[in-house]
Amino acid sequence: MNILKKIQEYACRRPEQIAIRCGDSALTYGELWNYSDGLAAWFLQTQGDDRSPVAVYGHKDPWMLVCFLACVKAGRGYCPIDRSVPQTRVEMILQAVPSGVVLTTEAMTADAGTKQVLVSEELKALAEKKHPEVPETAWVSGKDTWYIIFTSGSTGTPKGVQISADCLNHYLDWSVGLGSAAEEKDGQVFLNQAPFSFDLSVMDLYTSLASGGTLYCLEKTVQSDYRLLMQSLGASNANVWVSTPSFAEVCLSEKSFSEELLPKLQVFLFCGETLGNRTVQKLQERFPKAAVVNTYGPTESTVAVTDVLVTPQMARETEPLPVGRAKPGTRIEIRDEAGTVLPDGEKGEIIILGDTVSTGYYRQEELTKKAFFEQAEGAGVIRGYHTGDKGYLEDGMLFYCGRIDLQIKLHGYRIELEDIENNIRRIPGIEHAVVLPNLRDDKVKSLTAYVVERELPKAEREEMARLKQELLQFVPGYMVPKKFVFLEQMPMTNNGKADRKKLAELGKKPERKVMV
Ligand code: AMP
Repeated sequence: MNILKKIQEYACRRPEQIAIRCGDSALTYGELWNYSDGLAAWFLQTQGDDRSPVAVYGHKDPWMLVCFLACVKAGRGYCPIDRSVPQTRVEMILQAVPSGVVLTTEAMTADAGTKQVLVSEELKALAEKKHPEVPETAWVSGKDTWYIIFTSGSTGTPKGVQISADCLNHYLDWSVGLGSAAEEKDGQVFLNQAPFSFDLSVMDLYTSLASGGTLYCLEKTVQSDYRLLMQSLGASNANVWVSTPSFAEVCLSEKSFSEELLPKLQVFLFCGETLGNRTVQKLQERFPKAAVVNTYGPTESTVAVTDVLVTPQMARETEPLPVGRAKPGTRIEIRDEAGTVLPDGEKGEIIILGDTVSTGYYRQEELTKKAFFEQAEGAGVIRGYHTGDKGYLEDGMLFYCGRIDLQIKLHGYRIELEDIENNIRRIPGIEHAVVLPNLRDDKVKSLTAYVVERELPKAEREEMARLKQELLQFVPGYMVPKKFVFLEQMPMTNNGKADRKKLAELGKKPERKVMV
């Protein structure tokens, strides 16, 4: 697929169709195409040969998309920065991205140094100006970087994952068919939960554009107010749901979250975190007509590389759920520490090889060398990525077993924290669970489980004893956390995953219940 060509085709065929809606503002395909052309023309006229990636700052605003497309039409990659990104991190990213221009759709408090910051009104004025046509030859293509998404690095400095036009197009060839045949998605409404600086948003944003759909954005203010959230979902007419499992769990705590609220919903697409059996069962009860699809993948291999349709039988009988089979153009291997490919059923590191693997971390050669590699395959070369995830294959079906770095040693026992979490989630009444190690002198001394139950227990001590007892049915005694902390809600990161850092801080404080 050539995604720009596709959008152009929709802009010609159905210029009035809404491409993106965020709250009260929306842009049609025709507007999106013309405005992004206008802004791209400005880049080409004024910024010379500087093709370095451009930072685009803001939140869920249709003009963010105009900026993204303007950059790639002018031969520059873009780097989305959501306003929820802390100021110091924004500054770090701005320093890492050398372009002399920053595009913003809202006021930015971060210091942009000597860069020219174009604010919303300026962008609009430039985009609406009469301009010469932007030649296709200027567009980002092939191995050129389409976007850079910064993810947290273990050193505390964010790493910029570069995704090329080829990677994105290969990904879209597959994602337009997720959950149903490609044609059926034509003109459908896709729900957007993730901020644009999180690669999960690529799943809804570009799959929607690739199939002539409408992207319906849920802004942060809407997501943090249940009443507004349910109202907005009700008004969305959404056909395709894309979110982290944690976000769906938050929605499930509202009784009104059901087929009546979203009568046209056909498919739930999940990625980014473990999808629990009970979450799927609840969704299948409340949305009997909607398919549930689990997908897996890291930002480093363009959003997702495997998928599986989770049937009601699978949700009942296969625990944990699989994360799916590799998409065409991708191969999954399980390797041990020595790099030997392991047979079916044996656990090791998940290695992704194929046509959506990133070209590497932006201007970080050492880190790129550590995580990425190339190997000869047939007449050509294939790119590979070490995910740092643990898993195993069964006849081509991938099962995820947690992060290698979430593996701890407690009193000599090797324990996967996610293994305990998945088993706590099997206990009746549990909505969500995260387990963290308690460290002293860098050694794990004990474990704490942070749980959300359908109702906050009145007698915490008794409830803790019950949970410990129930958990013993599934895991050995040394895996039962010493402490259970009961929460009203699981704190979540801006990307919609359970926020382990916030929980760790909470564990140190005397007050324990949090409303997030
Ligand atoms: P990110 O790059 O932020 O999307 O995070 C990628 C990581 O999220 C992967 O390396 C996995 O550890 C985790 N992940 C992604 N998809 C799934 C899934 N379906 N089930 C469990 N973990 C997942």
